[in-house]
Amino acid sequence: MAYDLPSQAASGNDQSFAAPESVNEQYDTIFYLVRQTTGASHVNIQFDGAPMQPVPAGLACIQAPLVHQGRRVGVLRAYAQDFESGAAHMLAGFAVLAAEHHALWSVAHCDMLTRALTRRAFMADLGRAVATWARSGVSCSLVVFDLDHFKKINDTHGHAAGDAVLRAVAHVVQSELRPCDRLGRLGGEEFGVILLADAESAMEIAERLRAVIEGTIVRDFPAIEFTASLGVATCSAQTATRDALMSAADEYLYKAKESGRNRVIGPILADVHQLWD
Ligand code: GH3
Ligand code: MG
Ligand code: MG
Repeated sequence: MAYDLPSQAASGNDQSFAAPESVNEQYDTIFYLVRQTTGASHVNIQFDGAPMQPVPAGLACIQAPLVHQGRRVGVLRAYAQDFESGAAHMLAGFAVLAAEHHALWSVAHCDMLTRALTRRAFMADLGRAVATWARSGVSCSLVVFDLDHFKKINDTHGHAAGDAVLRAVAHVVQSELRPCDRLGRLGGEEFGVILLADAESAMEIAERLRAVIEGTIVRDFPAIEFTASLGVATCSAQTATRDALMSAADEYLYKAKESGRNRVIGPILADVHQLWD
């Protein structure tokens, strides 16, 4: 996949994916103020690309966009039987406040270079995804991947080239994911992806990510070729905690490295592995 967005645009590809499931809880105070000042009975924020917020039936709705660095990132909505004049103006003011809150949230939770979630934010989301699996059986898989021989890219082309590769990888991987999936930078040239998917789908998605990474062309460094090794683990009785899931994925990643790199290894091992051997 050609990667030809400038770093600014790559970093602009931000919050539809990074906002956590519980994102609306962070805005409780703003919602309270919106209810108090506009008479709304329901208030929510719909981030662009995020799962749909519930729409209360039979109520009038007013809305105001959330704009971050000149880009619309979502919309603040209020619902009531009826609104007095001036309510929309009030709501627009609170949308500015919510957008500022959102910007601060991004600074705290997103890696500056790649705009993926920080390790800390990613691990918190992974914990929530595993807890949801344990409570309600929603499938949860983890993909960890590490760029192959990345040190050589830095040594041969310079650190700026290495940085450009990291940004490009995060961008192309993010483009392959759904809004409910999460991409985090676990450290250096290692990333994690949380997928609400069973083992079979996760293996397929991981293979797609492997291929897309291998095919990435970095705009300012088109001659650089690179690959990644991926490990996949899925919540099960043996991997029923966040740390157990991470260890299992790490172990598969290690095997992917050991057995030749540029490959996916996971719970559905034999079939997929044999494709490359
Ligand atoms: P392997 O295939 O076994 O993973 O080999 P590798 O060379 O990718 O792994 P190694 O751990 O030896 O080297 C990782 C390199 O990643 C070393 C480090 O300087 C580089 N690195 C870590 N973070 C960054 C970063 O933010 N930017 C750049 N340009 N390089 C980074
Ligand atoms: Mg590496
Ligand atoms: Mg590494």
